Amino acid sequence: MNFNNVDFDTYFKNYPDKDGYFGKYGGSYVSPELQVAMNEISAAYQTICKSSKFIAELRKIRKEFQGRPTPISYLERLSNSIGTGVQLYVKREDLNHTGAHKLNHCMGEALLAKYMGKKKVIAETGAGQHGVALATAAAYFGLECDIYMGSVDIKKQAPNVARMKILGARVVEVTEGLQTLKEAVDAAFAAYCREYKDAIYCIGSVLGPHPFPTMVRDFQSVVGIEAREQFVGMTGELPDAVVACVGGGSNAMGMFAGFLNDPVDIYGIEPLGRGPKLGDHAASLKYGEEGIMHGFSTIMLKDENGEPAPVYSVASGLDYPASGPEHCFLRDLGRVKYDVVNDEETIDAFFTLSRLEGIIPAIESAHAVAYGIKLAKTMGKGSVLINLSGRGDKDMDYIIENYGIR
Ligand SMILES: *Cc1c(COP(=O)(O)O)cnc(C)c1O
Repeated sequence: MNFNNVDFDTYFKNYPDKDGYFGKYGGSYVSPELQVAMNEISAAYQTICKSSKFIAELRKIRKEFQGRPTPISYLERLSNSIGTGVQLYVKREDLNHTGAHKLNHCMGEALLAKYMGKKKVIAETGAGQHGVALATAAAYFGLECDIYMGSVDIKKQAPNVARMKILGARVVEVTEGLQTLKEAVDAAFAAYCREYKDAIYCIGSVLGPHPFPTMVRDFQSVVGIEAREQFVGMTGELPDAVVACVGGGSNAMGMFAGFLNDPVDIYGIEPLGRGPKLGDHAASLKYGEEGIMHGFSTIMLKDENGEPAPVYSVASGLDYPASGPEHCFLRDLGRVKYDVVNDEETIDAFFTLSRLEGIIPAIESAHAVAYGIKLAKTMGKGSVLINLSGRGDKDMDYIIENYGIR
């Protein structure tokens, strides 16, 4: 399959290039000290990811600890309620241990840390989901774990802070600036610069300097590879469309990786939040422009000074002002279509999926469900496979407080 002169038969061999570029996006824009550390991770990953011992160990962990393969469920009642004859399916990443897809890359990153002889993993967290997944991986491998988190987020996300501490992680409070995710990223990078001989940085999505977008995609691609095989096994054919929500873009990139070279329409869904005004959404691929932040070249939402703009989404896991470089590239090529759904559509889908199917989705994942429903209404016939990136238990308090029970 060919899009704009990019041949998808050989896509994974050719992208990213040796410097970590997907077209003009990606690369590594970091200080010389940090570049030394990135080169070390790149070199180690290149060798280790091809080692049969590493692959065998990761497979065993996925099966025996994470609970993979996760199933695909056919949404019979939801499909019938739409009534166009289109069939909806979900890939159940909500059934992963810890309740979301994030463990897929955290176990990979922590296993890499072990192979590299590191004693510690370092990361930032916003809502705490990445911190909990990484703390879980660190406990499994017996690694130290430092999670940097803004004071404001620490207060807001008390249950996740407790989970990280119970799992043995150290939660380091960041008191600079707005005391949220951006400052936590800066503090975690600074700590990594000081400690990189003994530690490895573990990013939470397909973001950051090379090699992280590639590594995280590769670890997440298990989702798409499994899903393709399972879907063909269940139905005898490929889905007509695949849908996933995009924050940084890791669950989406994992899912899409299985279908890029197939005659399947692919949709990445960003949060439109309260509407299209800057500050009310986090739809960087729709409204953003080219720029560099957090060590990579991307499409981002900028404020009047060209800095990352404040963003908002009802789903805290989606409120990031940029997207992974590979998503920017796939958008420009036209291989993946990126669209948006707003808070209201998302909350409707959250309750609909819960009531009709007995699956309470994460609010992040409900964005993909909302779009899948919209798509099914326009399609006439065929099938849509939605990546259900996580479960909604973490969102119960928020939903009840803000929306009540519908
Ligand atoms: C963190 C999170 C996301 C967003 O991250 P991506 O890297 O875009 O996948 C989506 N869904 C859930 C359940 C999450 O926890």
